[in-house]
Amino acid sequence: MKPTGPIPPDYRWRDGELMIGGRTADAWIEAAGDTPLFIYDMAIIRDRIARFRAAFPGVSLHYAVKANPHPPLVRAIAPLIDGIDVASAGEARLALDAGVDARRISFAGPGKRDRELATAIEAGITLNLESAGEAERALAIGRGIGRTPRLALRINPDFELKGSGMKMGGGAKPFGVDADQAAAVISQVAGAGAEYRGLHIFAGSQALDPAALIEAQASALALAARLSEEAGVAPPHVNLGGGFGIPHFAQDAALDVAAVGAALATALAARPAILRDAEFTIELGRWLVGEAGVYLTRIVDRKTSHGETFLVVDGGLHHQLAASGNFGTVVRRNYPISLTKLPQSGNVEDVSVVGCLCTPIDRLGDHVGLPHAEPGDVVVLFLAGAYGASASPQAFLGHPAPHELTIDGTDIL
Ligand SMILES: *Cc1c(COP(=O)(O)O)cnc(C)c1O
Repeated sequence: MKPTGPIPPDYRWRDGELMIGGRTADAWIEAAGDTPLFIYDMAIIRDRIARFRAAFPGVSLHYAVKANPHPPLVRAIAPLIDGIDVASAGEARLALDAGVDARRISFAGPGKRDRELATAIEAGITLNLESAGEAERALAIGRGIGRTPRLALRINPDFELKGSGMKMGGGAKPFGVDADQAAAVISQVAGAGAEYRGLHIFAGSQALDPAALIEAQASALALAARLSEEAGVAPPHVNLGGGFGIPHFAQDAALDVAAVGAALATALAARPAILRDAEFTIELGRWLVGEAGVYLTRIVDRKTSHGETFLVVDGGLHHQLAASGNFGTVVRRNYPISLTKLPQSGNVEDVSVVGCLCTPIDRLGDHVGLPHAEPGDVVVLFLAGAYGASASPQAFLGHPAPHELTIDGTDIL
């Protein structure tokens, strides 16, 4: 048997049944119509937002919508946060349709097309510029359509987020303007009739070590101050990035956000004069929504092959690629996984949970320990709230799309 990640502490068991937002998995499956089913619980998301507010008083919170763009979830989260970060014109449209004021939307990401820049400028969305060339295109498009673009600079920092699952800064990167070229682009933008909105410094993702985040935030503050002084322009806004991780695998422990918040408060209190009037933001995706989601999939077949027991389910990597280990991880490890109903006896058996796609990589649980299960029983994969349905190749093999439900959202039941 191989280890699995920890089940988030938000879930309760009642008489051996998993409770999701106060109801059983069967009740939600009946409400949604069928499995496979993603469920996102706004109560857990509200808890994370409250924790952030307590740890980071005075710091703005943005939601990185790519983590989960399910429209009822975006509509429910929008009034609870201070802004939304998007990475395409499609995500920008989604945020606008969710009722988010354009002035609270920022658009980062390399390779923004002219049409996307024009849509954003027209709507009044802030562009986090990824290069000097993009700055020139945005300024030209603004002049062409007679609108003042709201422009911030994404910086490719000269430091990295240590221990980060995905490094986005340090060295040659397609993201952001190199720190040593930034002052020139700031001057270009701020002096050209644009509304200069400040700096965006994102150093990486999926960090669980508070010391690494504290160091990265201190480095981001120092870098923002240095570049602003070089350019001689005070930034109205500094986005310090995010990168808060959640425990996915055995041995991972939850991030101590209170420690990170306390250190940032100290650093902000001592910030250089040029940052005195800046608004500071942290942008988060998976930490806000990842643990709020579960993926329910029903066992269709149980079989043995060469001594290995397989539970074949009606879902698979076309819905939940990350749990199959094929979304950017080098070594395949098991997400937290369980049955939605646990029998009285505590005996577990070594089984592999596989999806319905004809590929050996469609494995949602590899040699995991589960109580004896039969066709009809439901398997639950946790951490399905971020980089789940929208980060998976749903069209593969033509199986039907999964259902999605937001508890306390506006999904129609
Ligand atoms: C993906 C991304 C995020 C969100 O990352 P999480 O790990 O989900 O918190 C935030 N900011 C930027 C610029 C990103 O590309």
